[in-house]
Order: sequence, then C-alpha cells, then structure tokens
Amino acid sequence: MNAPALLVRGGDVLDVATGQYLEGHDVLAVDGRVQEVGRDLRTGLDAQVLDATGSRVLPGLVDCHVHVTAATADLGALTAWPVTYVTARTGALMRAMLERGFTTVRDTGGADHGLARAQAEGLISGPRLAFGGKAFSQTGGHGDTRTAGQHAHEDPGCCVALGRVVDGVEALRVAAREELRKGAHHLKVMAGGGVSSPTDRIDSTQYSQEELRAVVDEARAANRYVTAHAYTARSVEHALSAGVRSIEHGNLIDARSVELLVENDAFLVPTLVTYWALQEEGREFGLPEDSWRKVEQVLHAGLGALELAHRGGARIAHGSDLLGGMQRHQSQEFRIRGEVLPALDVLRSATTVAAELLGMTGEVGVLAPGAHADLLLVDGDPLTDVAVLAEPGKHVQVVAQAGRVVHDRR
Ligand code: ZN
Ligand code: ZN
Repeated sequence: MNAPALLVRGGDVLDVATGQYLEGHDVLAVDGRVQEVGRDLRTGLDAQVLDATGSRVLPGLVDCHVHVTAATADLGALTAWPVTYVTARTGALMRAMLERGFTTVRDTGGADHGLARAQAEGLISGPRLAFGGKAFSQTGGHGDTRTAGQHAHEDPGCCVALGRVVDGVEALRVAAREELRKGAHHLKVMAGGGVSSPTDRIDSTQYSQEELRAVVDEARAANRYVTAHAYTARSVEHALSAGVRSIEHGNLIDARSVELLVENDAFLVPTLVTYWALQEEGREFGLPEDSWRKVEQVLHAGLGALELAHRGGARIAHGSDLLGGMQRHQSQEFRIRGEVLPALDVLRSATTVAAELLGMTGEVGVLAPGAHADLLLVDGDPLTDVAVLAEPGKHVQVVAQAGRVVHDRR
C-alpha cells in the first residue's frame, strides 16, 4: 500500500524541539516516511504536490488517552451492544479523530489488535493505534461497571467493555500475559477511584502493592510498561511505588506527587477536556447523576494540578478521555491547557513528549527524516495561540498520514 511521494511545498514547518518555524520549507515524503525537510526540494513527476504557502506545517498530533470503542458514555450499556455495531461506531469515531489532526492515539482501555490491524490495513481510516487491550480493575474498582444492586456472577468483563475485573496476583499475571499475547503496547490498571464508575470512591486506592507489582513485572518482562488511572496524591504514590510508568488524570495530586513523577521518570497524562465536556453535557449522554456530581470536584483541581506538574518539571503528555458523543470535543483540550501553560509546552505534550511516552521518539510527533510522514496544514499560529487547534473545523486545512492526504477541506 505504498503511497506515491508527497511534496508539501513552501510552508512554515514547525520544529517542535526548538519552537521555531522553518520558513518557506518543503517536506518530502517517500514510502510513508519523511525523506527530507528543506528548501526547494525536487522529486519525480509522479509525486503529489501540496501547496502549503501561507500555512503552518505541524507534525501530526498524538492523543495519549482515548477510548475509541467508547461509543456511548453509558459504559454499563456498552457491554450489551453487539461487537459488530461497536466496531462500526468506532470506525466513525476514529475517522473524526483523524480529521481533527490526531494521526496517532494511545487507547487506554477497550481497543485491541483487531482495530489496530484494520487501521494499519486501511480498512479503518483513523489514527495509528497504540492499544492496551482491556484495562484491569479490582472488584468494585473504577473498571467495575456493576451497580451496587448487581451480583458478583454478573460479569462485566465480557464483550466490548473498556475494562475487566481481575483480582489477585496470579489472576493478574495471567490477564497481563493474555493482553501481551494479543499484542498490547502497554497495560492499564485502575489504581484509584474514578468519576464514571458507579460504586467506588474517588479517594480510594485500588489494588494492593503486590497486585500492581505483578502487572508491572509482566509488562517489563515483555519490554512494555504499565499506565495507571489515578487521581489523588495517595493513589499516584501507590502506583508509582509499584513501578507504573504513566499516571492518567492526576487531578488531585500535590507537590510531593510531582516530585515522585520526576524521581521515577514517569509521565502525567491529564485529561481535562473530559470534565469540561461531562459538566456541559454528560447527563445528556447517559452519565448517571452520582458520577456527574463528582465532575465538579475534579475539573477545577485539574487545572491546578497541570500547573503544579509543569512548574515541577514533570513530563506531561496530551490526553482527552472523552466518551460517546462527547468525543467531538477532543481538540478543546488545547484551549483548556493553553489557559495555564505556554503554547509550546502544550504542543510538545501532543508531539515530542507523547512520542517518548509511546516509545516512538523520532517516529511520530516530529517532521524529520525517518519519521512517519504525518502532518497538518494549519491556518493561524498555534505557537502564539494554541487554541487555534481547538477549532480544527476552522483551522486544520489538511491532514496527511503516512505520506497520504487523508483530509483536505480547502
Ligand atoms: Zn481513567
Ligand atoms: Zn480513560
């Protein structure tokens, strides 16, 4: 499926590492990879030429916390939907992400080898998919979708759930090996309470140290890593001391949590847009009333946590974590982060830092020889105002992925 060469001519190409535009530069992509970035590049007659004069050329964006199979925000109901229907809805959700400029995403619960393969084969037009299979949750944890009125034998871990309930060191080792056998890029655990879950407290820690360590151990053996859902300082410490490499959300962290993130060389993946969207329209999309009330608590705190982590020098990657119909707000994360962080740092979170987290440094999030030829033509200057990326329908003119134009609204 090799694309013909693509020559993107005369744009201002953003070097995310230095924060400078290379003015009037060309990007030449051959066989899906960047071959050269420079002035007045030449190529063969069969190359597709894209005029980028007057546009900013950015590397394709990376969202490190999505759930492509979360076709509804009612995660309890999702498990009853046919896999075939969810897959069709997932295809549409992934296509929309790509049109917003996300050419690579990390799925933190739900996506599997089948979807990644369908994307790689071109059956689904969407972001390249780094998947972790099903997230692990203890009984009554954040991934347990049963209400208090349901019984233990009603297994929520079947079919199309984002997670599965697994308890105990031995069972977790088997579950981890299963996900790794199916090609997981990382493993995801719920190490503390959450917002969208019906029975857990947000201030709880989840899993024992021994259980978390068993998952980390299995991931490391396979040269993979573990990421943990954790909101509070206590759950972040709980996860990091077990060897977890990235913390999802982290809204209720403190200064000590930031020190621990730095000491452990770990990543923080805030997902602020999801609370904004849940507050705006969560109830409309099936979020239960109890969960909706937890949202207020974590939204405000999340902005403070982001600032704290930034000042403390933690590595911060881009995330969104939207469910169901709220996924259309994905790009609003740029606007929200831009309120507290410098634009360049917001951009790095969704490019170079995200690439580090995914173990894809030099492959994505950068326009340099050897990288996947994923790029956007943007109208406006995201370095001056990163919120231009929050309105992709207005400002993202063209999206190319692996050297192929996949979206062009000009
Ligand atoms: Zn989570
Ligand atoms: Zn999530």
